[in-house]
Amino acid sequence: MAEFSLKLNDDQLQIQEWVHTFAKDVIRPAAREWDDREEFPWPVVQEAAKIGLYGWEFLMNAMSDPTGLMMPVSIEELFWGDGGIGMAIMGSGLAAAGIAGNGTPDQMMEWVPQCYGDANDVKLGAFCVSEPDAGSDVSSLRTRAVYDEATDEWVLNGTKAWITNGGIANVHVVVAAVDPALKGRGQASFVVPPGTKGLSQGQKYEKHGIKASHTAEVVLDDVRIPGRCLLGGKEKLDAKLARAREAGRTGEAQPAMKTFEATRPAVGAQALGIARGAYEIALEYAKERTAFGKPIIMNQAIAFKLANMVTEIDAARLLIWRAAWLAKNGGYKNAEGSMSKYYASEMAVKVTEEAIQILGGYGYTREYHVERMHRDAKIHTIFEGTSEIQQLVIARAIAGMRIE
Ligand SMILES: Cc1cc2nc3c(=O)[nH]c(=O)nc-3n(C[C@H](O)[C@H](O)[C@H](O)COP(=O)(O)OP(=O)(O)OC[C@H]3O[C@@H](n4cnc5c(N)ncnc54)[C@H](O)[C@@H]3O)c2cc1C
Repeated sequence: MAEFSLKLNDDQLQIQEWVHTFAKDVIRPAAREWDDREEFPWPVVQEAAKIGLYGWEFLMNAMSDPTGLMMPVSIEELFWGDGGIGMAIMGSGLAAAGIAGNGTPDQMMEWVPQCYGDANDVKLGAFCVSEPDAGSDVSSLRTRAVYDEATDEWVLNGTKAWITNGGIANVHVVVAAVDPALKGRGQASFVVPPGTKGLSQGQKYEKHGIKASHTAEVVLDDVRIPGRCLLGGKEKLDAKLARAREAGRTGEAQPAMKTFEATRPAVGAQALGIARGAYEIALEYAKERTAFGKPIIMNQAIAFKLANMVTEIDAARLLIWRAAWLAKNGGYKNAEGSMSKYYASEMAVKVTEEAIQILGGYGYTREYHVERMHRDAKIHTIFEGTSEIQQLVIARAIAGMRIE
């Protein structure tokens, strides 16, 4: 077990500085352009791939840190640069986590690298759970997976909604119902390999924020995939379904829930990075901007806002680091992963709004970044479990009961 320490080690400090430099020199200067264009920032992601920041090796390296802190530390810096481009770089990680969480070691070795490609040929991954009628309620997915014994293939049909990298990804990881009567316990995760017939992009959504990240529907129309694309394998699934049918309850987490649980501190770190970016801009501005003959920070009303902002940013970081450490060292006890994501997301919306207020009229314009940061922060209270769902998870953990 790794010691919990607030002192980052040399490796972590080095990575933190390396990501920060890329965020400052490459991401932040490009942020406004890609927000305006509302397109996937391929050239920026290619730059990230060239230095090894976008790629499965980086992901594996960060995930293997025994303290768990390498991941949130890197993500905070990335999203300090920009939320939309940060998400474009991080989006494939959700597919990789879906494969790692449910697949065998062989499946991981085969598919995770294909979610990233290489520096000369960048590829993406997409993790497809949500549907038009099933977002928070992942137990009621309508996408069906039917096994065709004659050909040893799975046939997928359905529509997935709001999928990051949906339709433009090389590898789509799809969660589907094998036995809908068993709700969440009747679901499984599948890899849809590159170029598979029947998978297409539906509408591309126009969004409030993180506009550089591509979000679209994914339509699955008689998508046939080889049996080996079932993550975890058929034997394991058959045993799980049999147990669920007999006992009525396996107690096993749903595949989608497993992925989200593992990625929660990372999502909190995204919100944290955006909030810190906005706070730093607001602090500098408050020291320089004069009104009534003095810098606006000399007014308690402004100084106290900044004091609250930095306090809440630090509180969020402590929750995230604790959750990331626990995830690697003994596991959560009271839904600490959800606490970190919930607090950091709500904090980021509040802090970025205060930043706009401190910048006044300038803050409301595109020029000073903070209005974009506010729009980018908001998604964090919605995706990968809304704030209300995080509250539900925390409430159930502390009550030891199934609060509805
Ligand atoms: C930009 C973006 C990217 C996304 N990327 C992905 C992706 O890559 N893959 C993927 O699978 N999904 C993705 N999503 C989907 C996202 O995870 C869902 O939108 C989210 O889980 C919420 O589901 P919903 O939109 O159906 O809202 P609903 O579940 O309909 O919720 C609506 C409101 O009701 C509340 N609510 C629902 N149930 C309860 C309850 N039991 N108690 C209290 N309140 C409740 C919610 O908190 C929310 O406020 C993405 C969404 C967006 C916007």
